[in-house]
Amino acid sequence: MAYAYDPDNIFAKILRGEIPNDTVLETEHSLAFRDIRPQAPTHVLVIPKGSYVSFDHFARDATEAEILDYMRTIGEVCRMEGVEEDGFRLISNAGGHGVQEVPHLHVHILAGRPLGRMLQPA
Ligand code: 5GP
Repeated sequence: MAYAYDPDNIFAKILRGEIPNDTVLETEHSLAFRDIRPQAPTHVLVIPKGSYVSFDHFARDATEAEILDYMRTIGEVCRMEGVEEDGFRLISNAGGHGVQEVPHLHVHILAGRPLGRMLQPA
């Protein structure tokens, strides 16, 4: 499958510095920042700096250095936010059925209150 990356998506603009963000952690290959519409007391988005549409795109085409950095960044943000003890949820929406709003890979880190069951009935 060919992945078509839209360089005008909002997270690409954040990476280029065209739109401000509330950065939590920046590494060589990743950026973590607070979601503009938080759905929990802690709601951080972690994105790779590379042009990847979705998790499956990233898993196929990213370098090992990018993948290692991204995984480590997600875990580090959980520790920085102090949510590893009470717990948290990671979500990565993809495509139409996943209701992905922004077509640049992102993992949501949600925490800070009981989050309920994972999915509501459709
Ligand atoms: P998705 O539905 O694609 O998984 O989630 C996209 C997320 O990006 C949403 O939670 C939304 O609130 C967040 N978002 C959209 N635009 C911006 C923005 O300009 N800045 C930040 N920090 N978050 C954004």
